[in-house]
Formats: sequence, C-alpha cells, structure tokens
Amino acid sequence: MTAQRVVIVGGGTAGWMTAAALAKLLPGRCTVHLVESEAIGIVGVGEATLPHIRAFNERLGIAEADFMAATRATFKLGIEFRDWGRQGDSYIHPFGTFGPGGAAIDFHQFWLRLRQSGAAVPDLDRFSMACTMARMNRFALPTADPHQLTGSFGYAYQFDATLFGPYLRTIAERMGAKRTEGRIVAVNRDGESGDILSIQLESGEVIEGDLFVDCSGFISLLLGKTLEEPFEDWSKWLPADRAVAMPCRTEGAVTPFTSAIAMPAGWRWRIPLQHRTGNGYVYSSAFTSDDEAADALARVVEGEPIASPRVLRFVAGRRARSWVHNCVGIGLASGFLEPLESTSIYLIQAAITALLELFPDKEISAVDRDEFNRLIDLEYDRIRDFLILHYHATERADTPFWDYVRTMPIPNSLAEKLELFRRRGRVVKYREGVFLDASWIAVYLGQRVIPEGHDMRADAPPAESLIAGMRKLGADIEGIAAVMEDHAAYLKRYCPMKEAA
Ligand SMILES: Cc1cc2nc3c(=O)[nH]c(=O)nc-3n(C[C@H](O)[C@H](O)[C@H](O)COP(=O)(O)OP(=O)(O)OC[C@H]3O[C@@H](n4cnc5c(N)ncnc54)[C@H](O)[C@@H]3O)c2cc1C
Repeated sequence: MTAQRVVIVGGGTAGWMTAAALAKLLPGRCTVHLVESEAIGIVGVGEATLPHIRAFNERLGIAEADFMAATRATFKLGIEFRDWGRQGDSYIHPFGTFGPGGAAIDFHQFWLRLRQSGAAVPDLDRFSMACTMARMNRFALPTADPHQLTGSFGYAYQFDATLFGPYLRTIAERMGAKRTEGRIVAVNRDGESGDILSIQLESGEVIEGDLFVDCSGFISLLLGKTLEEPFEDWSKWLPADRAVAMPCRTEGAVTPFTSAIAMPAGWRWRIPLQHRTGNGYVYSSAFTSDDEAADALARVVEGEPIASPRVLRFVAGRRARSWVHNCVGIGLASGFLEPLESTSIYLIQAAITALLELFPDKEISAVDRDEFNRLIDLEYDRIRDFLILHYHATERADTPFWDYVRTMPIPNSLAEKLELFRRRGRVVKYREGVFLDASWIAVYLGQRVIPEGHDMRADAPPAESLIAGMRKLGADIEGIAAVMEDHAAYLKRYCPMKEAA
C-alpha cells in the first residue's frame, strides 16, 4: 500500500488539527506536509469550544492538564445568554441534561406538565447540574455514570486560540508531519481531470500531493479561488458580518462559562481565560458602523483593554461542497457560522473525523466524497437553524436589528422544528449532529418559546409526588454543587498556566 501524500494549506487551528490527527491516526497510510505563511498569519480568535473537543484530544493522546496549562484554558459548562428573549432575561445553555440523564421521558415534559397546571415550579435550569455549577462558579470533573447527577454534565474549554495551533504543531511534527514556511502563489491542476497536482511557493518550490486539504481560512485558496466551488450565502438569516475583538484584563470572576450578551446590532462574547478575558462584539454592518461597534464594546467591557480593537469581516454560509476533486476544505476555507454557539472548531473536528473515516485508499471514490459532503452539509444545516433560532425567537423590537431578525422569514426546516416544540415541547431527534435535545430545550424555553401542551406520558405520576421529587432534585443538585471547588481555585491546582516561552 502506497502512502497518500497529503498537502495541507494553512497553519491555523484547522491546519494543525488536521495535521496532528492525520499524522497520529493514519501512520503509514499518509505523509503530511503543511504549508503556512507567517506573513499572512492566522485568524487567531476562536476561544470557546464544545465538549466534543475532549474526544479529539483524547484520540491524540493529549493530557488534559498539560493542554490546559499550555493554552491557558478554563473550563466551560455552557453558554449564558443575557437579554436575548427580552432585555433583562438570562438563561444558560448547559452541556448536560436537565434532571438525571438517560430517562425514558424527557425531564422537561414533567416540568411542562406542572407549569401548565399552574403549579409553582422553579425555572428549568435549577434542575441542571451544569447550570447550577455555572451560576455558583464551581467546578469538578464529571463522574462516568450519566444516570448520576455527578455524571449528568459535560464540559468544554475556553482557551487562547493563538496557543492551540502551536501546541498541536508539536504533536504533528513529533509524528512525522513536515512544515514549510512560505506564501503559495500558484496552484497547478491536471488539464484533463481538473485535480490539483501541486502548489507553488513564492520561493519557487513546488510541492506535489495526492490529496490537498484547504485550511487557508476565509480566502479559501484551493476550494474557492482555484476550484471555484460556489459559496452559499446565508446572511439573510444570519446578518452579522463583522466582529470587533477587544481582550481585557480579568476583573471579576473567572466564570466556568462563556457569556453571549445581546447588543443593539448583534451580541458580544465574554470568554474568561486564565490570563485575560476575551471580548468581542459580533454585529451586522447593515445596522451599525465599525466605530460605533468598537465604542459600544469599549463602554461595556469589564476590565482594562489590553489590545486595540481589531475588526474581522465574514459572511455566514458555506461552500456548496466541501470535498471537490482531490481537495477537502476544512475550517474557514469551507464555511463560517458566527461564533454564537462556539461551533467552528467543532466543525473542523467533524470534518477531520469524516475524512479519517473516508480516507481514500488508492483512488478517491465518488461515493466516499459524496458521503463526506452529506455529513458536512447536515452539520452546517443544523447548526444554521440552531443559530437562527436564537435571533428569531425574541420579543425584542427595540432596535432595527432586533426588529429585523424577529420578523425575518426563516428556513422551513426551522419553522417545522419550532412548530413541533410549540405544540408539546417535542424536540426533533437526530442521529447525527452536534446539538441534542437539552440544547434545543434550553434555547427554546430561554427565549420564551413556550409549548401549549406536553407529552401525555408525563401525566401518569401523581402531581404531589412529582412536585416533591423535583424539590428534592433541586436540593440535591444545589447540595452537590455547593461542596465543589471554586472554578478559579480548581484551575490553580489542576492546570496553572505556563508562562510564555
Ligand atoms: C470573530 C470570530 C470569533 C470566533 N470565535 C470562535 C469560537 O469562540 N469558537 C470556535 O470554535 N471558533 C471561533 N471562530 C472560528 C475560528 O477562529 C476558526 O474556525 C479557526 O481559527 C480556524 O481557522 P482556520 O485555521 O480555518 O483559518 P486561519 O486561522 O485564517 O488560518 C489560515 C492559514 O492559511 C494560511 N494561508 C492563507 N493563504 C495562504 C497562502 N497564499 N500561502 C500560504 N499560507 C496561506 C495562513 O497563513 C494561515 O496559516 C471565530 C471566528 C471569528 C471570525
């Protein structure tokens, strides 16, 4: 078996995640050669992740505490949304279940039944371990049994995006990946098949390959520019097209969650790391200017800014296909959905997993390529709907931006999901895809999409025993969280950050 020569274009998060995974998990099946240009640089934002990243790190043999110390990471139990449904509202999208996991009937159905009967029941997030820990600023690693409250939550990381790539680079190079520094100035294709044969650097060096992975960022050098794969623009549903980033010193708590706080023309992120807090205002340029956005952000960040505001531009959407000819686009080169639910690094991981599973033997087969594209499309489409839900399910009409998103037409796929939930709190079940029931439930209810009915099976237990059971559950959850360590203290003990080399 001859090894496939894989050429990766780009050394941002996508490039180094791909290089490390291929080098580590397909030894002998491929050689990995990554090309990047320090003069062009990387996007360098992307600080909040989803729990799936832990599986990625584990497969690469990464020791958690070492990785967290190197990337100055904190733990993330979910995302807090402030001022979305109405100004003054606040809810958490937790990583984990409501109530203990693994029940035959979703916990929120019993909760809905009691609420609909007029019983005074606390908010749903009081029955989530992750929400309670987040609100109390506590952390402990989950236990293995998801049926226990102590195992009913997951977690992700908040880390310095500029340190993750270099960390992976060490692993990739240790596993034999080669790196070349230089700007690519030409891409050579086979006149007959249209496949990419080689890339050419400014220095004149030509690098040949069998499979090319485009991780070149928004420029999409191979997939977009060279192969001209069309870009599907979703900005009519996701109108935010810019972000201004402004990291600051941490004043206040190092929270084990990311905050997404609504702003007049979008929202702002607050991501606490060990050494600073990341902030950024994601906005639509149709509704505010760069200067206005930077000023609005500067007025509300909680600590002294440690860098000048930096504006990033993007368009929501994706390439029609991510794998075309012998080129696979991964990361921003294949598409971008704004960072509201921290999905970009997850999408990179999903593409790498699909590529590993469908990695070409000798020839690239059309069925493998189609399957890859089907999987990636599904991921994008579902995340897109989930993001649109946050904007559309609002009662806010206080600025032109919020009025637009509240009244805009939405994709049928989302309209159907909303209708189903409004009827009796049912969530569309997925076999594949990132956000499962608890995520949708948190956002629907958090944004005041209140079901008219509930699952009739939830009517079986007597109301008094349900109420007593819920009271006990809430107390148990609070009791468990109360004896956990403070998040900042946990970090200091478990993974104190390493100083820059
Ligand atoms: C405002 C904002 C906030 C975000 N927040 C999050 C978040 O919280 N969570 C999350 O998961 N994701 C987030 N993301 C997305 C995340 O930043 C990216 O998915 C991630 O950084 C991957 O980027 P990349 O590697 O695809 O591209 P880049 O970082 O842009 O890397 C591109 C690489 O290609 C190289 N390159 C390009 N052209 C050439 C050439 N001609 N020759 C040689 N090399 C070339 C560059 O040098 C670079 O190495 C955010 C993105 C934005 C814009």
